[in-house]
Amino acid sequence: MISESARIIALTGAGMSAESGVPTFRGRGGLWRNYEPQQLATPEAFARDPLLVWEWYNWRRAAIHEAQPNAGHKALAALEQTGRHVTIITQNVDSLHSRAGSTHVIELHGSIWKSVCTGCAAVFWDRRGKLSTLPPLCPECHQMLRPGVVWFGESLPPMAWQASAEACSEAEVLLVIGSSGVVYPAADLAPIARQAGAWVIEINLEPTALSSLADLSFHEAAGQILPKLLQ
Ligand SMILES: [Zn+2]
Repeated sequence: MISESARIIALTGAGMSAESGVPTFRGRGGLWRNYEPQQLATPEAFARDPLLVWEWYNWRRAAIHEAQPNAGHKALAALEQTGRHVTIITQNVDSLHSRAGSTHVIELHGSIWKSVCTGCAAVFWDRRGKLSTLPPLCPECHQMLRPGVVWFGESLPPMAWQASAEACSEAEVLLVIGSSGVVYPAADLAPIARQAGAWVIEINLEPTALSSLADLSFHEAAGQILPKLLQ
């Protein structure tokens, strides 16, 4: 399937990053000071206690700064080097795909390295680890910045979503990697690709809701199976 296809999409979720040691929301190491991520990654939590939310993001920034792309990230970047058009659609905010060398990356949930002004909406990028001053303020209008990520209860950035749906409608192969497939975006994007005639290949440690739709399912770590598959 992959060798005969020119347009390939990899839709990646938390499982992909977990193999690089990025603390996920659901798995081990997701807790910080006994808060569930669902209690902190919301507009309501930020409105109530922005400093607390920023302290949590600073902890995540430090952890993600330490993380390195794994063999799965590198295999996808290498696939692009074969001349195929490879689009990465990711729910992860750590930029590990770009760091591995992938050039077409749609960050559906934003980036941890991005901050957005709550006053004037200016966007700032800072790829260093921890921020030194919390909460960070906008150098333009001195209002507070917020993390440039999509929180629970917020909608996806329309342009990123549009680009993802368009890519899926032209795909020949859709790899769904480390994503439970139960919730958006996998639940919405996989049927689009399927309708366009794409093969759907799932790579996830455990079976998911997507397994019945997929042409192939591999229940192995992405860092193990992707290099072998793409070889
Ligand atoms: Zn501002």
